[in-house]
Order: sequence, then C-alpha cells, then structure tokens
Amino acid sequence: MDASHVENDLVNVLFTEAQIQQRLGELADEIERDYEGKDLLIVGILRGAVMVMADLARSFDRHVEMDWMAVSSYGSGSKSSGVVRILKDLDSDISGRHVVIVDEIIDTGLTLSWLTSNLSSRQPASVEICTLLRKPEALAMPVDVKYVGWDIPNEFVVGYGLDYAEKYRNLRDIGTLAPHVYS
Ligand code: IMP
Ligand code: MG
Repeated sequence: MDASHVENDLVNVLFTEAQIQQRLGELADEIERDYEGKDLLIVGILRGAVMVMADLARSFDRHVEMDWMAVSSYGSGSKSSGVVRILKDLDSDISGRHVVIVDEIIDTGLTLSWLTSNLSSRQPASVEICTLLRKPEALAMPVDVKYVGWDIPNEFVVGYGLDYAEKYRNLRDIGTLAPHVYS
C-alpha cells in the first residue's frame, strides 16, 4: 500500500518510494566501490530490514551474499533497554569475511552497537553498518555507522519495514505516525 491508503494515520510523508529507491541506489554504488574485488556478505536484521535488504541487494551490479539475524532489544516497552537477545543467529560462518550489517533505522544505537561487537568477536575481515535512517540519539553512541540513507528528527516513523504494533511495514513510503494512532 502507499500513503494514500493510510493518509489519516500519518502527519506527513518523509520519503516516497521513489526517493527511497534513489537513495538506496546511491548507497549501493558507494558500497560497491568500497568492496571492489572483495567478497561481500550483507546481514539483514529481521524483521524491519527486509525491504531495505531486498532493494539494496538488487541495486548492486555484482554478487552479494545475504544472511539474516533476528534480535530482540525492546522487551515490552517502546524504548531500547540495551539488553539484546539473539532470536535467530547467522547461518554463515563470517570468519575472514567482509560483513555489512543492514538495518532500517538506528534510534538509540544500542542494538547495533551490541551487534557490531558480537559479530566482530567472530573474526570477520571487517564489519560495517548500513542504515536507511538514523535518529539524533544514535550520534551520541560510540558506534560507527559507515552508510546512512538519511538523518531524521526524533519522531516515530513507519513504513518500508518500520512498524507500529506490527502494522505499516508494507507501506511503500516512510511517514511520521500521527499521535492519535498510539493514544
Ligand atoms: P535502537 O537503535 O537500539 O534504539 O533500536 C532500533 C530499533 O528500534 C529499530 O530496529 C526499530 O525496530 C525500532 N525503532 C526505533 N525507532 C523507530 C521508529 O521511529 N519507528 C519504528 N521502529 C523504530
Ligand atoms: Mg530493526
């Protein structure tokens, strides 16, 4: 669905489907240049990064392997606790390999900071992070994010993989959720 189907639930559309595709194409070009001549494994963080992974991977003009992890960091509340649990681990052995972790959004940065050190302990050749969106708080974390689609204000956004109570993931665009939806 697109924003017209959930118009009343959104304050505004931040990024349209076309803008997202364009930006992912640019990120793919950048990553391709950085990993020229090297093998590359991209690791998507379930479930939010499914759309980013699908479109980023298809934007590459080269082979790229894809693997997935699922982690839980939120518990029941809506703020990261910093306590991360692996719900699904990688299928691949990443030792000696170049890894790029792909996520849809970094909020506090706690999840990705934990994940980066977890994956780094498995002796990969390198680990970098690619995220479509980044919120201001993440800038205060000692986590180095190499590829960022856009920096956004500290608002709750949905669509293109991002959910509120498991809804809006299948929205093509990304928009700011209207407060009446969660009150
Ligand atoms: P953090 O960076 O450890 O705080 O956690 C990031 C995760 O929180 C993301 O992968 C999302 O699942 C979720 N999240 C953070 N901000 C938003 C938002 O604005 N909309 C939807 N999910 C969000
Ligand atoms: Mg996520």
